[in-house]
Amino acid sequence: MPAKIIDGKKVAEKFLKDINKNIKQSKEKPGLAIVLVGKNPASEIYVNFKEKKAREVGLYFKRFNLDKNVSQDGLLRIIDDINQNRKIHGVIVQLPLPDQIDETLVVDSILPHKDADGFTPVNLGSLVNDDNRLVPATARACLELIKSTGQKIAGKNAVVVGRSTIVGKPTALLLLQENATVTVCHSKTKNLKEHTKNADILVVACGKAKLIKKDMVKPGAIVIDVGINRTPNGLVGDVDFDGVKEVAGYITPVPGGVGPMTIAMLLDNTLNAMEIGKGVRF
Ligand code: NAD
Repeated sequence: MPAKIIDGKKVAEKFLKDINKNIKQSKEKPGLAIVLVGKNPASEIYVNFKEKKAREVGLYFKRFNLDKNVSQDGLLRIIDDINQNRKIHGVIVQLPLPDQIDETLVVDSILPHKDADGFTPVNLGSLVNDDNRLVPATARACLELIKSTGQKIAGKNAVVVGRSTIVGKPTALLLLQENATVTVCHSKTKNLKEHTKNADILVVACGKAKLIKKDMVKPGAIVIDVGINRTPNGLVGDVDFDGVKEVAGYITPVPGGVGPMTIAMLLDNTLNAMEIGKGVRF
């Protein structure tokens, strides 16, 4: 039987409705700022989507478009202004940044309680400590999409392909918190198939178009495809969707899977950031 398609847009809509409701009930309007350096076409598309959805749910939104030659000090000064701005509760610095800028330094300069992306050491450390504060949005998106299937996570074998700090590692940590038995694979993993074939839950975030083929997937598995790869034939994921959907139990499409959920989780993080900033919650 072909896999059930996990409709990321539909799952995201539920969250966006709740976010909109919470904003309407809130005395203060939550504010999100996005800093975009240069004119990377992919980054511009992502930022446009984030802005559109942020405005739709009713957030106060401010966009900073900076020249690609902005100096590191110049960028740090803008983040400092945002850190002090009381109307802005969450900030995203769209990555990647140009070569003259030290990405780590820039991310570290964001106040942890305004870190809507959840990339600062304080927020990542809290996640390691099972004391979640602002959790990276794509990792949250993966977990919510897995939960949307209604399948149990505890005790299952989960395999995450990719160990980046912004996707693979936080996703593995969230699955561990749900009591899955987690294996993390990466570019130096030997015999990837041996691991993926054993996965009840398979999350793929490696940026390699259609790497995961049908014969690498356990029948009935939940497959979450994070990858976004631009090919001459259009946008494809890290999973060979047409083949894998014949064996998996559930699968996310690309586009229309993890992408829309990531945006919903970013906006939700902005609401959480406002509460954390006010001391309503940690
Ligand atoms: P990254 O380049 O930082 O990390 C890639 C990881 O994959 C690395 O840990 C590497 O070791 C591993 N890897 C590379 N080749 C491999 C192979 N052949 N076998 C096993 N592991 C391999 O990438 P990232 O930022 O984590 O993003 C991964 C993908 O997810 C990209 O396609 C990116 O565009 C996409 N992405 C999507 C969203 C979304 O919202 N849908 C968000 C973030 C990233």
